[in-house]
Amino acid sequence: MAYRIAVVGAGPSGLYAVQALLRSEQVDRVDVLESLPAPYGLLRYGVAPDHPKTKTVSRALARVFDDPRVRFFGNVHVGREISREELLTHYDAIVYATGARYDRDLGIPGEELAGSVGAARFVAWYSGHPDARQPAEWHGTRSLVVVGAGNVALDVSRIALRPSSVLAGTDIPRAVLEELQQGAVTTVHLLCRRGPEHAKFSRVELAELLNLPDTRIVLHAEDDWLADRPELSREVLVNLRLFRAARSRDNPGSVGTLPDGDTGKVMHFHFWTSPTAIESRSEGPDAHVSGVRIRTAPPGGPITEDRIDAQAVIRAIGYRGEPIPGLPFDAERCLIPNTDGEVPGTGGREYVTGWIKRGPTGVIGTNKGDAAQTVTRLLTNLADIPEAQRPEVAELLAGRGVEVVRWTDWHRIRRAEDALGAEYGAPTIKIADRDELLAAAFSE
Ligand code: NAP
Repeated sequence: MAYRIAVVGAGPSGLYAVQALLRSEQVDRVDVLESLPAPYGLLRYGVAPDHPKTKTVSRALARVFDDPRVRFFGNVHVGREISREELLTHYDAIVYATGARYDRDLGIPGEELAGSVGAARFVAWYSGHPDARQPAEWHGTRSLVVVGAGNVALDVSRIALRPSSVLAGTDIPRAVLEELQQGAVTTVHLLCRRGPEHAKFSRVELAELLNLPDTRIVLHAEDDWLADRPELSREVLVNLRLFRAARSRDNPGSVGTLPDGDTGKVMHFHFWTSPTAIESRSEGPDAHVSGVRIRTAPPGGPITEDRIDAQAVIRAIGYRGEPIPGLPFDAERCLIPNTDGEVPGTGGREYVTGWIKRGPTGVIGTNKGDAAQTVTRLLTNLADIPEAQRPEVAELLAGRGVEVVRWTDWHRIRRAEDALGAEYGAPTIKIADRDELLAAAFSE
């Protein structure tokens, strides 16, 4: 038997699934359908521009397209250009790798104000995502509040504080760079609702932020919150050591204070602290963030309340996936319920992998084992799927006039981005605008 499989989403989880599918001789064809003109999902639109080494994983993932059984259909949005029902007609099985690219809400007053954005949107903007809009009046931001104690919170804080001269050497779109250049973020307040030992920061990312040049670190933490304790994991102990080193280097003996007259950039870490309201000086549709009310409640007290002056707030409290019409959805966990990747009630024909399967956890490599589990389940079930004549999807899309970006077209985009980079002295620079991406894809 020879099977045709559709993989929806060309991010790391989708492409790891393709890798795993190609190991089976039963698989005759794998079509990767991606709503954007460019592949790589969060590798391209989530990994920070100053982390180019992480992005090199894309080279290994791209090799799946060397296999003649694999085709890329970029600029094809499932649910718009082609429906789920049509996919089921055209393929024996479908693997959804649609990720989790939307923001969770805090549920506090003022969250809707201009200047208050989710990290997913902010990261998509600085990563040149074609659908991302610039956060309102970003360049007026001097003081920024970031909510959350995960790696995304570290990423957005670091990008806000990085000198634009450093970002100029990255693939960051030039319009974003200009906006960041005009901006004058000098202060970032990171709010962690629990203690330093509960933060989900990775060691390397934390060390990088704590050692940013020209940036003082202020830890709003009692010494005993940063002390080693035998019950803590090795990862946590390393993070605590990094915090202690930062405190002794930058703030000998001080808790949350800076020498008078200090004009450099400052990164504050507030522990056991949550925002309670986001404030604006004015009302109406133009109302913009002017400050954040916070509440600090360490175990054993005392509980204190305060206000931070800020022109922008980024909530980095986790991402959420979106439902796929016709498939079940766990609204609490924002994922598609599944058994080892198989979506129940689909007759063994629909699967999930990556963040839409397990929620937004883990690093890029985590998706490899996750995809292997899904594909193992799929290949086991394939034997029970009756053989059927499947029509050709390219014909359906051509009949609808869809401008499909094929793999060779993507290479044209890549070359256009490299040429843009050469113009500005960077290895490559991302094209953010969808029309420009398509123009590059279909240029001669
Ligand atoms: P995350 O690691 O789950 O962190 C989310 C943070 O938000 C947690 O500190 C959580 O605190 C906090 N939070 C949740 N709800 C909150 C609320 N209502 N109020 C205040 N704080 C709240 O998620 P992430 O940072 O979005 O990262 C997603 C995944 O991508 C993670 O696996 C991460 O490691 C990975 N990633 C990796 C890198 C890298 O390796 N360089 C970069 C970016 C992302 P609690 O713990 O108290 O719930």
